[in-house]
Amino acid sequence: MNIIRSAVFQLTIWYLAIIMVLSVGFSYALYRMSDAELNRGLRRQQDVFLNQTFPNFPGFDDLREQQMKETRDRFQSNLILFNLIVLLAGGAVSYLLARRTLKPIDEAFVAQSRFTADASHELRTPLTAIQTEIEVALRDPAFTKEAATNLLKSNLEEVAKLKALSDGLLRLARDDAGRDMWESVSLKDVATAAVEQTSSVAATKEISIENTVGDITTIKGDQVSLTELLTILIDNAIKYSNPNTSIKLTAKKKEDTATLSIIDHGLGIKASDLPHIFDRFYRADPSRSKEKVAGYGLGLSIAKKIAELHGGSITVKSTPGNGSTFTIRLPRHNK
Ligand code: ADP
Repeated sequence: MNIIRSAVFQLTIWYLAIIMVLSVGFSYALYRMSDAELNRGLRRQQDVFLNQTFPNFPGFDDLREQQMKETRDRFQSNLILFNLIVLLAGGAVSYLLARRTLKPIDEAFVAQSRFTADASHELRTPLTAIQTEIEVALRDPAFTKEAATNLLKSNLEEVAKLKALSDGLLRLARDDAGRDMWESVSLKDVATAAVEQTSSVAATKEISIENTVGDITTIKGDQVSLTELLTILIDNAIKYSNPNTSIKLTAKKKEDTATLSIIDHGLGIKASDLPHIFDRFYRADPSRSKEKVAGYGLGLSIAKKIAELHGGSITVKSTPGNGSTFTIRLPRHNK
């Protein structure tokens, strides 16, 4: 990253400039003070020496001048050496400090670029499909009304995918604005709403959802976001489970936190995929499921972001072939 490298360089110069101004300033002040002190000491020595001990000592002034000059020169070269060392050590320390200061910005920069690249890549696929279909249709001289209807239907599907993708991207880009409008949200209400929203999809796969979340606690937060968080996890549990299986929702409360678990008996997640599934656009090997499962790999990153905005976290335990348990931890409101 060129921009970051030049920022590190500039910051290093600034840090070093501050260190050197302080060091040279202190050295100069020290030199002046020592010189004055030395002069005063020697004058006192002169009084004692000349007036009381050896009143007529010849060449005392010359000797004193010579000594003064030697001491001053030695002190000066020591200070110059000291400042050169400060310059070298300060340069190295400033560079390390500048790199450290800019590291989070560098990381955010890299993440942002990767996100933009990934998002553009994902947007290209449906857009290219639409473009190709339209081009082929326009080149076909015997283009019937029926073919046009089919084309529009197919285009509409791609547009729906694009819309889902852009909704997801917008959700991720939005920050935590609206925090001051947070209310007390019942965990039970959130679970009930999320199960309701996903029940029709579950029904198509004949998957039963057992909701055991009772009225145990409230969370301070945004009801819509919290419902979305849970909906994403239940939706995934349905997507990555075989028909005729079951999903269970349980909740527990501890001193400060409430935990909500979504347990499925689906495909499970390989240990090598586990550290990445919350990354944007990450999708574990889709070939393990029989039918292609739709998605952009954004769901879990949105879920994680919502949990973190509420001061909570999401963890997962999974055994391939046996199922997964996603656990959300959120700070309790009414302790
Ligand atoms: P998407 O579902 O759109 O692929 P997600 O971010 O929601 O994106 O999930 C990322 C990946 O994590 C999925 O592609 C899937 O491989 C895996 N995954 C998520 N939830 C589950 C689950 N309940 N069971 C098995 N695999 C899951």
